[in-house]
Amino acid sequence: MTYDKPLPDTSDGSAPFWEGCAQHELRIQECSACGHRRWPIGPVCTACLSPEHTWVTLPGTGEVWSWIVYHQSFNKAWEPDLPYNVALIKVDGAHTMISNLVDVEPDAVHVGQRVEVVFEDATDEISIPKFRPVS
Ligand SMILES: [Zn+2]
Repeated sequence: MTYDKPLPDTSDGSAPFWEGCAQHELRIQECSACGHRRWPIGPVCTACLSPEHTWVTLPGTGEVWSWIVYHQSFNKAWEPDLPYNVALIKVDGAHTMISNLVDVEPDAVHVGQRVEVVFEDATDEISIPKFRPVS
């Protein structure tokens, strides 16, 4: 199987996040100085500017804050997926992440819907976190 969509650049400090995804774990930076959880991944804490941090594994659950459905592709790699959604997920224990909802029809998505992370194994090294509804 080939993966035709763009893959993330892991040389920007995000490698531990992607290593977690490859192990099907959702990880995030936690500031060692103040405990703030950083997202997006960055070189310093956005609350106190400390560069010190550890990586913590999140439970991988959350809720839909918002979503849209794309009916037009802006990259040929997504054309086979049309229509597809892009969702803003409030991840439990962290912030919001932009992802896709899977295993759900577009008209069945709603704000506040509980979801859990699932991983699409794009390559041997890269797994993409996505979310699916939980009942
Ligand atoms: Zn901090």
